[in-house]
Amino acid sequence: MRKLTYIGHSAFFIEKDGDGILIDPFITGNPLANFDYKQKRISQIIVTHAHSDHLGDAIVISKATGAQIIAVFELANYCIDKGAKAIGVGIGGKLNFKWGSVKFLPAVHTSSNPDLPYGGLAAGVLLDIEGTTIYHAGDTALMPDFSMIGELYNPYYAILPIGGYYTMDIEDAAIAAKMLFSPEIIPMHYNTFPNIKADIQKFVNLIEEQGQKCLPLKVNEYVEF
Ligand code: ZN
Repeated sequence: MRKLTYIGHSAFFIEKDGDGILIDPFITGNPLANFDYKQKRISQIIVTHAHSDHLGDAIVISKATGAQIIAVFELANYCIDKGAKAIGVGIGGKLNFKWGSVKFLPAVHTSSNPDLPYGGLAAGVLLDIEGTTIYHAGDTALMPDFSMIGELYNPYYAILPIGGYYTMDIEDAAIAAKMLFSPEIIPMHYNTFPNIKADIQKFVNLIEEQGQKCLPLKVNEYVEF
């Protein structure tokens, strides 16, 4: 069984043959999230950058379950200092696990939190799970790298921030989707807070006009792949 579940905001949970991979687990304080990690087996926790709505509960979950946090070196070292298990990686680096691989890719964004003035570079991540490629863009502006990522890695699912203000808005995210050529687009990072409200139907229409499929997952809704 292979499942990609939306937890809310930028948080996703991927299950593959008994392994569980959390991405950006912002659960506590997330008005949209209803996810009990204690009911799941968590193997790895991938964190795109240090902002609290992405690092989220990663350290707590790592300490409770022994799951490894995967993040760029500066952020991984911070997590280790806080008592979590973590593996550091550089932008461009790829790590292999039993369930597949994760490659860290550029994002145009910052990375810090009140305790960590510099969290290294913000990232997007590309997962390859037995040939199914899932690209989680993290928080980012529209950037030319989307064309490169589309051409080189052909992500099947592109998970893109659409809420504006901190990241791309729906118009920029639709352009990013076109640059990536991904068949299926999953929006994220919208409607969690008043300043990232997005007209989801408008985004669905823009993506469908481009001949791509849009999957606006509701919280705890999943796709099987
Ligand atoms: Zn951020």
